[in-house]
Amino acid sequence: MYNLDQFMAEIERKNPSEPEFIQAAKEVVETIIDTVNENPAYVNAKILERITEPDRVIQFKVEWEDDDGQVQVNRAYRVQFNNALGPYKGGLRFHPSVTLGGLKFLGFEQIFKNSLTTLPMGGGKGGSDFNPKGKSDNEIMRFCRSFMTELHRYIGPETDVPAGDIGVGGREIGFLYGAYKRLQIENTGILTGKGRNWGGSVIRPEATGFGALYFAKNMVEAHNDTLKDKRISVSGFGNVAWGACMKATQLGAKVVTISGPDGYILDEEGVNTQEKWDYMLELRASNNDIVAPYAEKFGAQFVPNKRPWEVKVDMAFPCAIQNELTADDADLLINNGVQYVVETSNMGCTADAVEKILAAKIPFGPGKAANAGGVAVSGLEMSQNSMKLSWPEEEVDEKLKHIMGNIHDACIKEGTEDGYVNYPKGANIAGFKKVADAMLDMGY
Ligand code: GLU
Repeated sequence: MYNLDQFMAEIERKNPSEPEFIQAAKEVVETIIDTVNENPAYVNAKILERITEPDRVIQFKVEWEDDDGQVQVNRAYRVQFNNALGPYKGGLRFHPSVTLGGLKFLGFEQIFKNSLTTLPMGGGKGGSDFNPKGKSDNEIMRFCRSFMTELHRYIGPETDVPAGDIGVGGREIGFLYGAYKRLQIENTGILTGKGRNWGGSVIRPEATGFGALYFAKNMVEAHNDTLKDKRISVSGFGNVAWGACMKATQLGAKVVTISGPDGYILDEEGVNTQEKWDYMLELRASNNDIVAPYAEKFGAQFVPNKRPWEVKVDMAFPCAIQNELTADDADLLINNGVQYVVETSNMGCTADAVEKILAAKIPFGPGKAANAGGVAVSGLEMSQNSMKLSWPEEEVDEKLKHIMGNIHDACIKEGTEDGYVNYPKGANIAGFKKVADAMLDMGY
């Protein structure tokens, strides 16, 4: 039998200086420990020790030349966490905050998220402390080329299939794919999020944001409610926020905020036109990492150095980075009458924030369920690559909706307690069981 405190003490001992990984492990383990203890096969197979230890971690050096001819050195990793259900699958993050502990948290989350999609994908994550801010396209290309020179040895369409994450979008995937193709002389489904002309799936760029809104639609409908006319705050202004703004608008809701490291935009008109969505992409592509110019361009308000959680809304969608919504922010949202929180970034809310939201009995969609649409369409891209076919938009969108509906059903099935749906618990148990059962089937 497992004891939570003892187990977590051991995790802390084995993973010192990795607070985010410890946070993610605790969040999962505390919700699944009863399920594990009720099943002697899991306990005997030491399933918790095995699922919290990555299969392997690859660390490598990335040397590249900047536009001034100076040599630059970055550190990079690929964490291959668990491949019980399929090839390791998960994004690459290029951000100065990247550390091994951060990628271990993301790779760990990815195991359960990918399991929830029901597609055959294991969990992994990678990235580098490279900062794309202020870099030219050529610098990004040289960095990506050097990064792949090392990484290509460890990945493959049936082994490990990286994709994008923060700081890695279509442009970076293109450069990475170009480098891989040159090294291996083959066109293969080695990355997802590829361009449409060379093996990418329709809707992959939009999929995380779209999926979060499909999940949210299921959530509100399960509470006899509708998305129509809901006032929404979104954080971030990248790919995920962009998809969320578009789909929220299409489903009749109104997004009134987006944000960047410099502050947030309050747009009472709504982030609701093609022009505004296109501008978000332009801002992101500029590599300046600021959102303020949106306010000037569209006559909206810019609130410097603040997060959007002080704005009164019906629904909040953190779409930026881990731990971006704190306990104080949760208090603000709750006091302002928020009805739903849909965590669209990975571990976007601190543990204290989640505790407050759950204690207030506000439906809370955890990242690993709500943001699974991105990796789900990555899984569909892998299927299309294997078949050497590409499916039309309606087909991919229909499959995405279906997958998000199934994830929501799984949360309800495993997470309902006394009439309240504890979505994080439901997602963790449903995601865990499939992986754990596969691990039992395969031995050690
Ligand atoms: N980075 C995304 C995530 O956090 C997508 C991963 C993928 O498509 O492999 O799920």
